[in-house]
Amino acid sequence: MKEVLSGNEAIARGAYEAGVTFAAAYPGTPSTEILETISARYPGEIYSQWSPNEKTALECGVGASMAGARTLVSMKHVGVNVAADPLFTAVYTGVKGGLVLISADDPNLHSSQNEQDNRNFAKFAKLPMLEPSDSQEAKDFLKAALDISEAFDTPVLFRTTTRISHSKSVVELGEREEYPSTGEIDRNTRKYVMLPGHARQRHPLIEERLKKIAQLAETSPLNRVEWGDTHIGIISSGITYQYAKEALPGASFLKLGMTWPLPAKLIRDFASKVKKLIVVEELDPFLEEQIRLLGVRVDHGKDLFPILGELEPSCVTALLTGVEPKKKAPAEGLPVRPPVLCPGCSHRGVFAVLKKLKVFVSGDIGCYTLAALPPLESMHTCLCMGASITMAHGISKVIGESEDYKNKVVAVIGDSTFFHSGVTGLIDLIWNRGNAVVAIQDNRITAMTGGQENPGSGHSVSGVESPAIDLEKLVIALGVKPENVRVVSAYDLKALEAVFREELEKPEPSAVITKDPCVLQYRVKGEPMRVLAEKCTGCKRCIGVGCIAVSMMQKGEETFAAIDPNFCTGCTVCAQVCKAEAIIR
Ligand code: SF4
Ligand code: SF4
Repeated sequence: MKEVLSGNEAIARGAYEAGVTFAAAYPGTPSTEILETISARYPGEIYSQWSPNEKTALECGVGASMAGARTLVSMKHVGVNVAADPLFTAVYTGVKGGLVLISADDPNLHSSQNEQDNRNFAKFAKLPMLEPSDSQEAKDFLKAALDISEAFDTPVLFRTTTRISHSKSVVELGEREEYPSTGEIDRNTRKYVMLPGHARQRHPLIEERLKKIAQLAETSPLNRVEWGDTHIGIISSGITYQYAKEALPGASFLKLGMTWPLPAKLIRDFASKVKKLIVVEELDPFLEEQIRLLGVRVDHGKDLFPILGELEPSCVTALLTGVEPKKKAPAEGLPVRPPVLCPGCSHRGVFAVLKKLKVFVSGDIGCYTLAALPPLESMHTCLCMGASITMAHGISKVIGESEDYKNKVVAVIGDSTFFHSGVTGLIDLIWNRGNAVVAIQDNRITAMTGGQENPGSGHSVSGVESPAIDLEKLVIALGVKPENVRVVSAYDLKALEAVFREELEKPEPSAVITKDPCVLQYRVKGEPMRVLAEKCTGCKRCIGVGCIAVSMMQKGEETFAAIDPNFCTGCTVCAQVCKAEAIIR
């Protein structure tokens, strides 16, 4: 039977067919749908869970593998940075049930804070890596990855990019093979307890293991040569293989499905039979450098293809053939539309108040990061998941106390991000006697990645009820004084301002918690507001809160605000900033 599947759906299907029984992930574009598909389609066969972060997901996965389960752990590229600590040592402990770590990379930063090439992790952490080029391979390679994992006692890195994760192609489905756990845990301390003495003994095994996998790579069907015109030989992998094949279908190709360790002999052999060797790859010169290190002459690689951003078929065609593809000229004169918070979003009021107070806002990863953009422009830093609190701590330690709010720091973080890695940041701040106001914007969901459950939402990935972590009790337990923990509505700007003013005056940490649910996820919609044109002075204060439901209209000489009732949720934030009281329900 055949089905049209996205790469992520195909990976989930591959996990099902390959007998995976344990899957864990932290949501992050472009990886999110892998676990969502597993949980929705294979709930009886595969246990699945969202973990609070990528490190805990991988650690759970290593435990499941130790207990004999075939295991899948998925995350986006920056998530692997978080999971790197257990990853580098899991390569030492090895596995029992096959363990595959999916890294979904995001060339061109469609929805990420950096652009990194996680192929480098395979070399750095010394583990084999597979890269599929379409959905069929995404499914088939997953099974191959689990087989390699078990045969060589190693986790396997499975790297995709956004185009593989999200584009769809036809997949031939197969039957599920069962790999039930024996129900026994190995008590093998030399293998699983990484004391220095044990780890020292494991390291040479890893080097030997890589040599053996490199031998497998020479003959594995994961790597294949497609002979054509030998004037041009192309070495490529992943989605860029498809682009190169489209551009030069008659050329010779060495298509690599296993991109670490590399098949040195196969590469040398291929290179010796083609006149001109071109390496086509996105982002870093990962393959090119390794091929050059083999002493193989590469005629073109990164001298031709950009090191930044995502390649696209037309660009690869143009660079390989010199023929500019016919492109439709982009429409001109279109207004620039920066991403904005949703109408009625509970984050808006908090940022309107923080802007008014002129505090320095140390931000984090989530929908609220959009508050850095015009017109709100009230977030001043955003580094990585959980860094809002720790950066606020570092900043406030250096700048010290100040009389005005200009040099005071508020850390803003969402509930999911707080559970991900904000908790340890707050522990750092409390322990080291820092002083910052931590605003936890609890919208009861992981909103930015499409509304996944989190430890505070009260449900697991499969919708089963689970204990919701109580944020107030948690921050008190971490050391914030109970009188400094304030719960306030994100829609009550007066109350928010008063609470922030009070807490900013205190010489000790505070937590301001807002608990208004995500309007999109919980379908919050109240009676829309409207503008009394005769009262409106055209001051544009309401525009400053950055709601797409509000716009300015011109009638003759008069300029006044208008509200689109289709978008407005009636949250009243724009009304509260209007000094003319021109916005009413
Ligand atoms: S804030 Fe009030 S007065 Fe100013 S433009 Fe908006 S509706 Fe008109
Ligand atoms: S009340 Fe104002 S800010 Fe809230 S959704 Fe409606 S137009 Fe937007």
